[in-house]
Amino acid sequence: MLEPSPMGRVIAIANQKGGVGKTTTSVNLSAALAMRGRKVLVIDLDPQGNCTSGLGVDKFGCDGTMFDVFHGEMDLNSVIVGTAFNNLWVAPANSDLVGAEVELVNKAGRENIIKSHIEPIRNQFDFIILDCPPSLGFLTVNALVAADSLLVPLQTEYYALEGISSLIQTMTLAQENLNSALELEGVVLTMYDSRTNLSRQVEEEARKHFGEKVFQSVIPRSVRLSESPSFGKPIFAHDPNSNGALAYFELAEELEQRRSGKPAKKGSKRRVANG
Ligand code: ATP
Ligand code: MG
Repeated sequence: MLEPSPMGRVIAIANQKGGVGKTTTSVNLSAALAMRGRKVLVIDLDPQGNCTSGLGVDKFGCDGTMFDVFHGEMDLNSVIVGTAFNNLWVAPANSDLVGAEVELVNKAGRENIIKSHIEPIRNQFDFIILDCPPSLGFLTVNALVAADSLLVPLQTEYYALEGISSLIQTMTLAQENLNSALELEGVVLTMYDSRTNLSRQVEEEARKHFGEKVFQSVIPRSVRLSESPSFGKPIFAHDPNSNGALAYFELAEELEQRRSGKPAKKGSKRRVANG
């Protein structure tokens, strides 16, 4: 029996560094939560629209996108579309969104647009996941204003260590200037390669800096994860038995366990082989 989850938890998935696994995490964590019976809305805030297409939605074939929301032409509610998966919806984006920042530069309260659109509908969902672009610009700022928490994917590679300090800065900056209630949901290690010392070193550093905030569930480097967007499917529809699928399912479980205040399962940290 599924325990009730806090209604409408808004989680921004952000890291200003590009290519660290934000979108892969948005798609697959959301799909895993949906498989656990949660109602999940993914809001694509990246003009690349990778999250939209990764969920099998044609980013140029929608009646409305996040561009229309930012322009005040449509409500968030009316751009939301269903996906092929139960309990999983997406507010799509495409390259139109590139111009949003420039066009809205003089609009008062422009940082609050997403927050004001989420509020009326947040209780229709258990989780609202915001996939942010790789920058600290207007779109990410909108996400940080709207979010209850920030979830940071940290790629286990050399420059991740530099990323850690800029991450602390971002979090502090956001809390001081945008949203004093913003929490750190957690840090998830991505593209982990158990065969390399580097992955282990980055993990050690991350756990030293962020302690319990680093999820025990670690996402392995996996070919199956990297190819599933080209099929427009979360990993669970592409290869449900893969290590990547298992890892994202565990991450969803751990996130919910933490939220319920229960201690993490002992020994739940898996050292899955890469593949
Ligand atoms: P951007 O900053 O451009 O939005 P991102 O942080 O959203 O990027 P993704 O798009 O999720 O990152 O991932 C970057 C690339 O790495 C993609 O090609 C993706 O398929 C691949 N990738 C992500 N996670 C993994 C993984 N665990 N194993 C292997 N490849 C991965
Ligand atoms: Mg992305």
